[in-house]
Amino acid sequence: MFDFRSDTVTQPTEAMRRAMAQAEVGDDVYGDDPTVNALEEQAAEMAGFEAALFTASGTQANLLALMAHCERGDEYLCGQQAHNYKFEGGGAAVLGSIQPQPLDNEADGSLCLKRVEAAIKPDDIHFARTRLLSLENTIGGKVLPMSYLADAQAFAFEKGLKLHLDGARVFNAAVAEGVSLSAIAQHFDSLTICLSKGLAAPVGSLLVGDEALIKKARRWRKVLGGGMRQAGILAAAGQLALTEQVERLAQDHDNARYLAEQLAALKQVEVNQCATNMVFASFAHANLPALQAHLQADGCKVSVGAKTRLVLHKDLDRSAVDALVASLHRFEQENG
Ligand SMILES: *Cc1c(COP(=O)(O)O)cnc(C)c1O
Repeated sequence: MFDFRSDTVTQPTEAMRRAMAQAEVGDDVYGDDPTVNALEEQAAEMAGFEAALFTASGTQANLLALMAHCERGDEYLCGQQAHNYKFEGGGAAVLGSIQPQPLDNEADGSLCLKRVEAAIKPDDIHFARTRLLSLENTIGGKVLPMSYLADAQAFAFEKGLKLHLDGARVFNAAVAEGVSLSAIAQHFDSLTICLSKGLAAPVGSLLVGDEALIKKARRWRKVLGGGMRQAGILAAAGQLALTEQVERLAQDHDNARYLAEQLAALKQVEVNQCATNMVFASFAHANLPALQAHLQADGCKVSVGAKTRLVLHKDLDRSAVDALVASLHRFEQENG
């Protein structure tokens, strides 16, 4: 099967499976797992930060960031489309007593800093305390402009806000811009990174920040049931994600462009956007469930919707793209 639904479906590499089998491990709750410690040091160094924390998921890493930056009754500003507002079950409110203040994202995925400024609450007993601005990069596949990151940093500093990056796919942004992770990370007080998406590790994310923030997050991770024991088995794959999978993301970006070009030749398909490893398209076909079933029967898993997201990743090469496009052509021929 060719699975275009998400880059979360990537299978670990053979090298990852070998490293996992051979990983030196210890009890990470005691700080005794050498492989977890090495992964955390590696990530902190790549990002140019003091410390990092290995977490079960990106959702957990984002929640820990919010709970480490904010106290009960504080608020964070974020996009309406932000993963850590829209797609994380309201975790900050449910588990952290932290209020989100979402703002509409601009077309490029950024937040207008003028509108962010207007949303900052005055210091007054009526209001939650505005503590944090949270951005996402990439967002819907789009890379936030480097100049915007610098502007947001200067803005946050001036307003006394902390600045967090949900960088689940920050390496896609770095590769697309041709810059290092630290060139992006330097603008933020903390960032999260998913190892289990395009970087192909089976499980795990990282939160990166200064010592004090990571210490606080480590405590909350334990409280939330995220203290793992011989987690080096997982961290071993994470190390290879950081060393062997980052540059490869450029192929996913090439394949996304290739897919967008091929889709343009279809009558009933309109490509709405192509950025980094994602293509968004709308299908004019009357019967979308039938289209999804047709693609599935041809070996292509696609979540067909009003706006369909097609995600390129390690386990999809050009022949997978060709198979998908051929299947779409057949569907158009058979269904007018
Ligand atoms: C996937 C994703 C997350 C959450 O990661 P999980 O490991 O699935 O919990 C957070 N933010 C963004 C932008 C993501 O794409």
